[in-house]
Amino acid sequence: MASEFDLIQRYFRRAHPSAVLGVGDDAALIQPSPGMELAVSADMLVANTHFYPNIDPWLIGWKSLAVNISDMAAMGAQPRWATLAIALPEADEDWISKFAAGFFACATQFDIALIGGDTTRGPLTISVQIMGETPPGASLLRSTARAGDDIWVSGPLGDAALALAAIQGRYPLSDTELAACGKALHQPQPRVALGQALRGLAHSALDISDGLLADLGHILEHSQVGAEVWLKAIPKSEVVSAHSQEAAIQKMILSGGDDYELCFTASTQHRQQIADIGRQLSLDMAVIGRITDTQQLVIHGLDDAPLTLKEHGFDHFS
Ligand code: ADP
Ligand code: MG
Repeated sequence: MASEFDLIQRYFRRAHPSAVLGVGDDAALIQPSPGMELAVSADMLVANTHFYPNIDPWLIGWKSLAVNISDMAAMGAQPRWATLAIALPEADEDWISKFAAGFFACATQFDIALIGGDTTRGPLTISVQIMGETPPGASLLRSTARAGDDIWVSGPLGDAALALAAIQGRYPLSDTELAACGKALHQPQPRVALGQALRGLAHSALDISDGLLADLGHILEHSQVGAEVWLKAIPKSEVVSAHSQEAAIQKMILSGGDDYELCFTASTQHRQQIADIGRQLSLDMAVIGRITDTQQLVIHGLDDAPLTLKEHGFDHFS
């Protein structure tokens, strides 16, 4: 059976020009670009909590890096280096090689160097730390939304939650429908280029990992403001749109997690400029509401009437 060192050597050691010293020594060495700030973040994926262990390991590899890159995107940072700490129940090389292929497919697409980590036996757990760079003072924060701002999202919401509901047998979908919305759940696309294009334009930003209402709630709390959001203005995929009259689907759009689109706020003066950026990046972006000075979050339903959040199962927001 392969030793821990064989596994690291075979599957996780890849040279990358942006590391001074990569995998193999007691620590990696990196050379940050002069004058840049480092953005650092970590995200852990635990089997059965964040993913089913029986799904394609390639997708687990992709997603474990992609969700971390998404945090860099949300800061407006350029992701550069990552470490990977992984606990594996057994040295299943077929599983590990597919996991590594998915991880490096994502690393290659976003030009990120895997510079180190840890490999140990234990219940399947994947912990990635990511480091990126951003010009001093240019990062997109949660605490700087202003009353009057447009609230934007970078793409459709609800697909990942709908796919998960279908997989768990809570919502019937055809195979074609599940294939369409399953992409958001299994292979999220971090909005790195958008995050950087929004430097100096957006007043605040974050990525939607826990659902729009919860995550927008963080902006509101940190910025001490309120918001009005229009459900009909939120971008929706064809599948979500087809079912959007149903309360269960509306809940997925508003509170479903795992979509990894950006939510950001910006002055109405920049609406055209931001829409142009969205078009250039082929994103289905939209203004979904505005920041208010009320300290309240009001959601308007498809008929424009305010939703009673409690009825929709959102009572932790009311
Ligand atoms: P140490 O005993 O000094 O902690 P390890 O034996 O744990 O070192 O790891 C050896 C080298 O392999 C280190 O450079 C470490 O960063 C790297 N490494 C270990 N596991 C992984 C992994 N899953 N992905 C990438 N690099 C790894
Ligand atoms: Mg050591």
